[in-house]
Amino acid sequence: MLVEAAIANNVLNENIHVDVLIVGAGLSGIGAGYHLQKNCPTKSYAILEGREASGGTWDLFRYPGIRSDSDMYTLGYSFKPWTEAKAIADGPRILNYVRETANDNGIDKKIRFHHHVKSASWSSKDARWTLEVEKGPERETVHFTCGFLFMCSGYYNYENGYLPEFPGTAAFKGRIIHPQKWTEDIDYAGKRVVVIGSGATAVTLVPEMAKTAAHVTMLQRSPTYVVARPAEDALANKLREKLPAKLAYHLIRWRNVLFGMYFFQLCRRRPEVAKRMILGAARKQLPPDYDIGTHFTPRYNPWEQRLCLVPDGDLFNAITEGRASVVTNAIDTFTETGIRLKDGSELPADLIVTATGLNLQVLGGMQVSVDGRAVDFAKTLNYKGMMFSDVPNMASIFGYINASWTLRSDLTSEYVCRLLNYMDRRGYKRCMPRNADPTVGAKPWVDFSSGYLARSNAKMPKQGTKAPWKLTQNYARDIVALRLGKVDDGVMVYS
Ligand SMILES: Cc1cc2nc3c(=O)[nH]c(=O)nc-3n(C[C@H](O)[C@H](O)[C@H](O)COP(=O)(O)OP(=O)(O)OC[C@H]3O[C@@H](n4cnc5c(N)ncnc54)[C@H](O)[C@@H]3O)c2cc1C
Repeated sequence: MLVEAAIANNVLNENIHVDVLIVGAGLSGIGAGYHLQKNCPTKSYAILEGREASGGTWDLFRYPGIRSDSDMYTLGYSFKPWTEAKAIADGPRILNYVRETANDNGIDKKIRFHHHVKSASWSSKDARWTLEVEKGPERETVHFTCGFLFMCSGYYNYENGYLPEFPGTAAFKGRIIHPQKWTEDIDYAGKRVVVIGSGATAVTLVPEMAKTAAHVTMLQRSPTYVVARPAEDALANKLREKLPAKLAYHLIRWRNVLFGMYFFQLCRRRPEVAKRMILGAARKQLPPDYDIGTHFTPRYNPWEQRLCLVPDGDLFNAITEGRASVVTNAIDTFTETGIRLKDGSELPADLIVTATGLNLQVLGGMQVSVDGRAVDFAKTLNYKGMMFSDVPNMASIFGYINASWTLRSDLTSEYVCRLLNYMDRRGYKRCMPRNADPTVGAKPWVDFSSGYLARSNAKMPKQGTKAPWKLTQNYARDIVALRLGKVDDGVMVYS
C-alpha cells in the first residue's frame, strides 16, 4: 500500500518495487490495468509511460481525419460498451474513451508519465526484473523492480515513421510531411496535395484533405483492396435504444466478430469470390468509366494484406466528385514543383504527405537480458502470442492483424491475471515457456505480405508450427486457449 501511495503522489523517485510493471499507457496498458485491478486485486502495479500523455496511438497521430479502421464494437474493451453513434470513430473520440476508462477506474493514478524504459534485466536469484528507466525531460536514470513485466508498448517506433529514400527531395520547394509528424500549423486549404501511399493512413487522409484542398492526388506504387462500410451502424444504434447498453454492445460485438471471421475465411479459402465482391462494390461507387483494374485491383488476394476500410465510401465519393484522384505509378524523382513519375509525367504539388507507413519495433525498443545474457527476440518462439521461449515472467500484448487489436489485448490481460493467480496459489515465483518438443519448427510470426510486416520479419519473434507456439489470428480459438485452456500445460515451466 505504501508503494501505491508513493506512486500516486509521485514522491518516490527511485528503486520502486511493485508486483507487476506495465510498460505503456495506451489502449492496451490501460486495459491491462483494469484487468489486474479486477482479477488480481491484491497485486501492486504501476504503469510506466515514456510520453507525457496517455492514449498511445490515439494521442500520437494528429493527421487530418485520423480515425479507426475497424468498428468500435470490437475495438472497444470487453468491459466498457462503446455508446457513441459512429462505429468507425474519430481519433479524438477513441482517445477520450481510453482516458475515460483510466479515469473512471483510478488507473490514471497508477501512470508515471515521462518514464521511458530503456532496459530490463531478470535475475533468477531474486526472481525479479530490474528496469532502467529514463525519467523526465532531463532523462534522469531511475530504477524499478517487479515480479512480472507486462509489455503494452505497442508495435512501432514512436520517434519516426517509415520513410523510403526518394531521390530529389531536397529540390522540392513545398513542404514534405510524414503523417506521424503532423502538426496543427500545416495548412492545406486551396493547395495541391500529393499523398504517397495506399494504406489505411492514405485512404483516411485523401478524402478528408480533399474537403478543402485544391486537389488531392493519392500516388500509389500498387493498389490495395478498399472496402466501404457505413460510419454508423444502424442496427447497433437501434439496439442501444431498446436494450441495456452492455447487452446491445455484446450482441453487436459478436455479430461483428463472427462476420469478420467469416469474411476472412472466405478471402483465404475462396479468394476469387471475395475479390469479385470487393471489386464489384467499388465499381458501383465509382464513375462508370473508372479504371478499377489499374487503381483498385491489387496483385495479391484479399486478406493477404490488410484491407482498407472507408466510412460511407468517402474516398470513392471524393474521386467521383473530382476533388481527389488516384495515380498508380512509380516515382522517378521529386522536383522543385512536385513529383516526376517513371512514365515521364509530372504531378504538381504544394504539399507532399508521405503516408509510407510505420517502423515496427519489438517491446518498445527495450534491451532485455536474462541472468546477464542478452535476449535476441528474433531467436525466441512466441508462446500463445504473448510470452517468449526461455524468457521468464514477461508477457507482451500484440493484437490481431485481421481483426481489432483490443479483442486480443483483453484476452492477453485476462490470461496474465489467471497466470499470476495460479502462481500465487501454488507459491511459484517464476513461470517460463520452454519448448522441449524437437518437432516444433519455427515460422515467420505472421503470414501476411504487407510491406510493414515483411520489412520487420527478421527482427520479430517466430511462431511455432504447433500449439501453443502457433499464432492462429482467430479470436474464437484464442478464447478457448486463453480464457478456458489450462495455464499449467506442460510447456510453461514453473518454479
Ligand atoms: C493510425 C493508426 C490507426 C489504427 N487503427 C486501428 C483500428 O482501427 N483498429 C485496430 O484494431 N487497430 C488499429 N491500429 C493499431 C493500434 O495501434 C491499436 O489498435 C492500439 O491502439 C494499440 O494500443 P497499444 O496500447 O497496444 O499500443 P500503443 O497505442 O502504441 O501505445 C503504446 C504506449 O507505450 C508507450 N511506450 C512504448 N515504448 C515504451 C518504452 N520503452 N517505455 C515507456 N513507454 C513506452 C508509448 O509511448 C505508448 O503510449 C491503428 C494504428 C495506427 C497507427
